[in-house]
Amino acid sequence: MTPVDWALLDKHTTGPLLRPGDAGFRESSAAFNERWAHRAPAAVLRAADAADVLRAVDWARDHAVPIVPRGGGHSYAGHSVNSGLVVDLRALDAITVDPVTARVTVGGGVLTGALYAALRPYGLALPLGNGTGVGIAGLALGGGSAATSRRFGLTADTLRATTLATAAGTVLTCDAEQNEDLYWACRGGGGGNFGINLDLTFQAVRAPAAATCVLLWEAAHAPGVLRTVQELMLTAPEDTSLRLGVSTAGGRTLVSAVGLHLGPAAELRELLAPAFAAGPPLRAEIADRSFWDAMDHLQHETSGGAFAVRTHFAARPLPPEALDAALAHLAAAPPGGNADGCGLALFGWGGAINRVDPRATAFAHRDARYLVSLDTSWLPGEDPAAQLDWLAGLDHLIAPHATGGAYLNFTDPDLRNWREAYYGANYPRLVATKRRHDPDGLFAFPQSIGS
Ligand SMILES: Cc1cc2nc3c(=O)[nH]c(=O)nc-3n(C[C@H](O)[C@H](O)[C@H](O)COP(=O)(O)OP(=O)(O)OC[C@H]3O[C@@H](n4cnc5c(N)ncnc54)[C@H](O)[C@@H]3O)c2cc1C
Repeated sequence: MTPVDWALLDKHTTGPLLRPGDAGFRESSAAFNERWAHRAPAAVLRAADAADVLRAVDWARDHAVPIVPRGGGHSYAGHSVNSGLVVDLRALDAITVDPVTARVTVGGGVLTGALYAALRPYGLALPLGNGTGVGIAGLALGGGSAATSRRFGLTADTLRATTLATAAGTVLTCDAEQNEDLYWACRGGGGGNFGINLDLTFQAVRAPAAATCVLLWEAAHAPGVLRTVQELMLTAPEDTSLRLGVSTAGGRTLVSAVGLHLGPAAELRELLAPAFAAGPPLRAEIADRSFWDAMDHLQHETSGGAFAVRTHFAARPLPPEALDAALAHLAAAPPGGNADGCGLALFGWGGAINRVDPRATAFAHRDARYLVSLDTSWLPGEDPAAQLDWLAGLDHLIAPHATGGAYLNFTDPDLRNWREAYYGANYPRLVATKRRHDPDGLFAFPQSIGS
């Protein structure tokens, strides 16, 4: 093994190589989730271009230094920060839109907010999710759930091609004709596993008109509202997507239904009539919007800090006894300083997502009607033990009513059976693809394929 020669890497790359203490080092390497604030790499390369990425891969392989790509840094599990070399990809930020074919090619470090802004002048849309700082590569490689996914599919379902820097230091085009195994794996196999995606090409669609809703109820209405809105989510058209949540923060519990309808507000209002009947909302906003105003409106605000999330997929509504038990559990949540508190959310799933065969892409969960997300948060410096115990208790109440799957992009570092839960029957094929293209496991991290 060659001794670690950082100067050599610095000499052969254009972007700055940052070491601990350098300006920008933390900003280029810290995880969004401050649960992992203690982690720091030995160095960060702010790659200036694809050539820098390839040199970093060759250098890391030759020096046996762990290497990890970083896009938006939003991995819940902090998987884009290791103890070796982080390659910050954010300068790979080119976005090219072909208005005739509606194909959109983005650099491997493009963030969601930048892509929405680039699509807007062309009147085009992609299912991109709700976090402006989330990296497109990280989002698409792990699936990618958006309020428009019931109509347009997962972000991964719109991926038509990607260019991958592999462990061997070669650049491979992966699409339906070339390197199909990697193209398959890059649609749900998860970021960081098969190489570094230098660019990704998506098929966009014309952006339709939209309406949004935000409904809030006091806790007293929770049992009726949760039951009613869950049922309503099952029968709603694919143009409608709702996120049903119940959360406790600062000692107060609120129920919310936040949604998007690709049609007029009047239709959405009619559709939501049973929700109004289930309990008078504290606040109810239903409005027509342009597609992009709707996307802005749905951006997920978070207090940040430290958090943990467990996920499930459910094929049918959670039964009343599970909801009642979850509400009682929420009422007994331990106090914490993070304003995000803790809670449970159901994202309406199905539609276009479920029309894809579970074996056609690496994303296996094609029979769910709800993505169920359970979360808790705390302030950096607070002991998370009570919050994590509470989350495990909530998980215990919900798991029996779910499919056994978990959502890779809401990465759960505490999930023991992550291979089956994230990938189901697709895991062996992912391992075979990994062995073919990264036989020595250069791209390795906790929960990496084949580990
Ligand atoms: C505030 C917030 C909002 C979110 N909203 C949504 C949402 O609406 N829908 C949804 O589905 N998910 C959402 N997520 C989850 C998000 O999709 C995942 O965390 C995603 O993996 C983050 O990608 P990233 O580039 O920002 O993170 P990173 O931590 O930089 O990367 C995530 C993983 O992908 C790898 N990676 C990053 N770039 C590349 C690349 N170019 N090539 C190869 N590997 C790469 C990293 O090594 C890491 O393993 C949200 C997360 C947060 C914190």
